[in-house]
Amino acid sequence: MGRAKFQEFLPENCHRRYSCVHCRAHLANHDELISKSFQGSQGKAYLFNKVVNVKCGKAEERYLLTGLHAVADIHCNSCKTTLGWKYEHAFEASQKYKEGKFIIELAHMVKENCWDS
Ligand SMILES: [Zn+2]
Repeated sequence: MGRAKFQEFLPENCHRRYSCVHCRAHLANHDELISKSFQGSQGKAYLFNKVVNVKCGKAEERYLLTGLHAVADIHCNSCKTTLGWKYEHAFEASQKYKEGKFIIELAHMVKENCWDS
């Protein structure tokens, strides 16, 4: 499991975090989790305030259940797997809170550190 040199690491101080299930790159701290009630193409997905080690694709307009949004696919920087998407723009006022936030599908994440306590 070679880790790319440019990879960003989250603090190691016993912080609950999510990593890429495919290559174990750190993706997000539990503190950055906003909501667990999202749905991706492969089941459950979580909304995060901030993620690391991901690359955004080109934003495109898509009609989602909650209205028109401009979204960009996000990929793991290390293994290139498509993990979810980023909300670049929400057209409905009630959906504005999602702008600049990230969705990662649960199927692509693994929980690490101190989840049992
Ligand atoms: Zn990965």
